[in-house]
Amino acid sequence: MNNFNEDKLTGNTKEAIDILGRKWKYECMSCAIAKGELELPGGLIYEDEYITVGADTEIPLNGFIIIATKRHVNSIADLTITERHELIDYIAKMVKLLKELNIVHEVTIVQEERSKHLHVWIFPCHEKYKKMFGKGVGAIKDTCEYVKSNASDEEVQQCLNTVQKLKEYFKEV
Ligand SMILES: [Zn+2]
Repeated sequence: MNNFNEDKLTGNTKEAIDILGRKWKYECMSCAIAKGELELPGGLIYEDEYITVGADTEIPLNGFIIIATKRHVNSIADLTITERHELIDYIAKMVKLLKELNIVHEVTIVQEERSKHLHVWIFPCHEKYKKMFGKGVGAIKDTCEYVKSNASDEEVQQCLNTVQKLKEYFKEV
């Protein structure tokens, strides 16, 4: 059913169940997304030669956006000047859009080098979860765990609607 190619998998295979209940196998999630072997919920919001932009695969949190490089590099220090410009440009564009579309009015931006493939989280700070788990980086883990097991079908649909709205925007540009 899934369109990944098992022949390409060698050993360190991981598994994820996405917000639509689809199961994906991959060695590196960001590489699988870049190659089109893993389809993000609602599809990619934007992609070009250097980056992919889409909703988080596993957490149905409205406005949770991941921007990844296409190249399998670990650190922001490994990026070329063009990639650096592209990455910060699209982080800024996404944050601006999330606010303009009234999806969220505050975000936390995270990049962890513990992941082998560079990606940046644009994490939405919704009032509801700020009240439950506090603010900033410290609230992310608890928020994700809660949302992953408690999101309603309506909340999943909201995430997909947001992806559609953001995709429309980039189609027009
Ligand atoms: Zn990779």
